[in-house]
Amino acid sequence: MSNNKKTLWRHTAQFQLTRQFSLLLGAVMLFFNVMFIVLSIGFLYERIEDQTDNVFEAIEKGHAATSGWSSLIDAYVSADEENALRVQQPDGTVYVSQEGQEVFSALAAGKITPLLEGVVFSEEGVYFSKSESINGDQVTVAMNAEASVELAYGLLWISSLLNLAAVVIGSLLIYWRVGKWSRKLTLMASEITAIESGGQGELTVVDEPVEIQSVAVSFNQLLKDQRETIAREKQFIADASHELRTPLAAIRGHVQLIQRRSEAHPEIIPSSLAFIDKESKRLEGLSNQLLDMDRQQVKRQTATLNVGQLIREICEKQAIVSPQTIDYTIDEPLLMQGVKTDFQQIAQNLLENAAKYSPDDGMIHVRFCQQGSQVCLIVADQGIGIPDDKKERIFDRFYRVEYSRSSEIAGSGIGLALVKQIADQYHATITVADNQVQGSVFTVFFPLSKE
Ligand code: ADP
Repeated sequence: MSNNKKTLWRHTAQFQLTRQFSLLLGAVMLFFNVMFIVLSIGFLYERIEDQTDNVFEAIEKGHAATSGWSSLIDAYVSADEENALRVQQPDGTVYVSQEGQEVFSALAAGKITPLLEGVVFSEEGVYFSKSESINGDQVTVAMNAEASVELAYGLLWISSLLNLAAVVIGSLLIYWRVGKWSRKLTLMASEITAIESGGQGELTVVDEPVEIQSVAVSFNQLLKDQRETIAREKQFIADASHELRTPLAAIRGHVQLIQRRSEAHPEIIPSSLAFIDKESKRLEGLSNQLLDMDRQQVKRQTATLNVGQLIREICEKQAIVSPQTIDYTIDEPLLMQGVKTDFQQIAQNLLENAAKYSPDDGMIHVRFCQQGSQVCLIVADQGIGIPDDKKERIFDRFYRVEYSRSSEIAGSGIGLALVKQIADQYHATITVADNQVQGSVFTVFFPLSKE
């Protein structure tokens, strides 16, 4: 493994989780190992102390029946097991069991341990030594603890080896299991890399763990939204350039016409200039509407507004420029939270359309009122109406019903898209219906906020 790969490997979830789990496992094992050793030593210590007390008990029982130590002293301890007994009588006479003298001399020079009272480490081995006064005699028993020490060492070795094996095998199992688990993350990372480099796929949604599952689901949703936005933007740019190119081409055509033929036919100049004027105004209007759409993307400061008053002002203005009669019924004050220009833009676009697509002697009705938990803006005209199959499409950017395109009615197909975009920001819905006897009715339903 190269140095770079090794460093990378040390940062993987598989390595880091394995290391942490193994350290925890090792620490727990070590704790129980130490506990086991301490308890085993305690158990062996008690056992040898009991054996020593048994010797004292036997001496106590036998002492009453005997007259002298010299014949009895070897009966209480076994020289084969290298145990020793010493008795010191009040008159100073000392009796020592067979080969006991070396043991007691070695114990006198041995080392004691404060934790285990009576345990002496000597040249003759490890001993447990205890003294008691029996009927005035000072009796000292030295029990050889070598076997117990060996047993303790044996237990220590066995338990250490078993624990070490458990940590090694446990770590390998953890590494394998974590590897299996983290493969889902590795797969996710490689799928994201593939998507980043232009791939069209999406993330695999695993059944578990739920955390990875929900990350994949959210990522896929985000990806879907983003792709749709990109597709919409692309379409928008294509549509916008098409819409701009057509009038520009027409303007250039008339400019070339004037350049080529105006000297011979000066009568074409006024009509060409009128056309250029009309188309350039249309371009100006189109670019202004595109700018309005763009402004909608920016977060703006909202305020509590008397929306009824705003709509009445728009109706009054439109009444001045429109040949139609505008009849408006507006509930005031009707307060709503929002941006002033948003409500003005919605009302103005709907009213302008009602006027554009109605005969001059038509009547336009505007109603603004509260209906339960919502506020409605209704704009009804007696114009040319909208075919049923086009009622949804008119809210698409640049979409115009054929008759609008072919007729002389100026427009860009942006107005209603803008109305829809603004309405969406207020979670408002828009419906279009046929008016009786003819014409269209546009209704915008604004939900009233609950605060
Ligand atoms: P435009 O600039 O073409 O008016 P809009 O987005 O405002 O663009 O409207 C889209 C299309 O919907 C119009 O071209 C027209 O065909 C149709 N439309 C909108 N309002 C009305 C209306 N009140 N009556 C009939 N048709 C309408």
